[in-house]
Amino acid sequence: MALTKLDQLYRQVILDEATHPRHHGKLSQPTHTITVRNPSCGDVLTLDLQVVDGVIQAAAFAGSGCTISQASGSLMTDQIIGQTPATVSRMVETFSTLVIDGQAADEALLGDAAILRGVHQFPARIKCATLAWKAAAQALTEGAQHD
Ligand code: ZN
Repeated sequence: MALTKLDQLYRQVILDEATHPRHHGKLSQPTHTITVRNPSCGDVLTLDLQVVDGVIQAAAFAGSGCTISQASGSLMTDQIIGQTPATVSRMVETFSTLVIDGQAADEALLGDAAILRGVHQFPARIKCATLAWKAAAQALTEGAQHD
């Protein structure tokens, strides 16, 4: 039962996001960068952001990890571009609620990334799904780059 649901989840969007991730790589001049790890799975993710005039203009992620963590990185970067850090902070909390509870009050804020709601059926994978989002929050609060 659980495996069948996980198979469906993979088959839908997640596998495609993980094998053809958007915004994968490094930015040439990030204003913010952070590397985060999920020791329980071995996922490692480095996130670069370029924040100009209070808006995230570009985002890119690199690293290695399971399908869920890579798909989440792709979906997350796609959704945060064009947002303010304050909005991203709300998105990170909403995403966390969504994958833990399977629903969140303002999940429309997440756009396509809401597809990852199915992860709530697999508690062991929640940290994989939230890793990229935690990276976004952490990059904005402690990842500022100084010349
Ligand atoms: Zn993982």
